[in-house]
Amino acid sequence: MLPLVWEKTATDSDGALRKVKDMRTHIGEILALFREHGELSRVDVIETSGLSRSTVNHRLGALHEAGLISAIEGGESTGGRPSSRFVLNRDRAVIATADIGATGLVVAVCDLAGEPLRHTRVTVNVWDGPERVLGEVDAALAELLIDPVTHAPAEVWGVGIAVPGPVEFAAGRVVNPPIMTGWDGFDIAGWFSGYGVPVIVENDANSRAVAEARPHHHDNLISLKVGTGIGSGLVFNGQIIRGSEGAAGDIGHTRAAIAESSEQLPCRCGNVGCVEAYAGGWALIRDLHAAGVEVDDVAGVVSLVKQGNLEAVRLMRRAGRVLGDAVADLVSILNPESIVVSGQLSECGEILLSGVRERVYQRSMPLATRNLTVAVSHLGEFGGVVGLALITADRIFAADHIDDLLERIAGRPLDIEAATVS
Ligand SMILES: [Zn+2]
Repeated sequence: MLPLVWEKTATDSDGALRKVKDMRTHIGEILALFREHGELSRVDVIETSGLSRSTVNHRLGALHEAGLISAIEGGESTGGRPSSRFVLNRDRAVIATADIGATGLVVAVCDLAGEPLRHTRVTVNVWDGPERVLGEVDAALAELLIDPVTHAPAEVWGVGIAVPGPVEFAAGRVVNPPIMTGWDGFDIAGWFSGYGVPVIVENDANSRAVAEARPHHHDNLISLKVGTGIGSGLVFNGQIIRGSEGAAGDIGHTRAAIAESSEQLPCRCGNVGCVEAYAGGWALIRDLHAAGVEVDDVAGVVSLVKQGNLEAVRLMRRAGRVLGDAVADLVSILNPESIVVSGQLSECGEILLSGVRERVYQRSMPLATRNLTVAVSHLGEFGGVVGLALITADRIFAADHIDDLLERIAGRPLDIEAATVS
């Protein structure tokens, strides 16, 4: 489970190896409990982890010394004994995040629990290429990382970047993106190496899926991002399904069922009859133009729908049915508990969702839809950055990385037995 720890201490004796491994995994386990539950008493930790009191005391001491957990004020018992309740210190440092969409990005500084503290929006086209777009992210972060009250720079522990295309997660690169000209193989993680902290590169729909799934304890969920393009993120058994090449969930370029019975519309990926060619924001703009309706961008499409423009509403309802057809088989095969829709077109609400529901309930297996909910995300434009912060925190606090963090904080090798709270 923890090969890195074993390799690091390979020159030690067998006894030392085992000792080091045990200590470090327990710290990660205990911190994971605080991330999940927030506030815990010492007894809660002992009972939930199954670890001995002395081990828990040592690990709580190390986490407390590093500032990762705080003793709760007023938690002292009458005998003047130290507090026995602790809480994750979510303000100990920040995670810098950027959710890059096709025509704009949201940059946010988030706390360690994933809550955005400060954010900004930037209008930029993803096809202007990585240097231009990531340069905008740099500029936005340079401002956001300065605390507006103290004017001190925030301490960054991780960077998370989401892109609207397939990602080779381990390498931090985009791979064969259908629309992101100039991004193929670009070293996004390397671009942010100056921070000297872990950099996570993730697909935008995957980030949204985690933001929806984690806080609500939904272990099985599909997130649909419907904006200029269309993507889906799959969280099953609490884990993102990435597939062997990072291409899982790229639903926008699967074949639309409607293409069998109507005109086969060309897609911007070069294929014909893709889901995006009927339901993507760019396709709706094209079809509105063809119908003589003036519209400039995806936000304009949403406005027309809200104003009740007949052609825009008709196309939006069709988009919903196309999406519903596309996701119906996934529902039968994977049996999610919810489908959460985000992205600019989700602002059309029921006009989009009714078509999704109609086709999913018509075409999926009854058992698979018995308790299924289909809804618009409550996180709005923050879904991407919240999910990114959670995924980046997973990496920073992973059992096989937490020792690196604690050593960096202390500025010296980990001496776990020295730290203790009684
Ligand atoms: Zn396509």
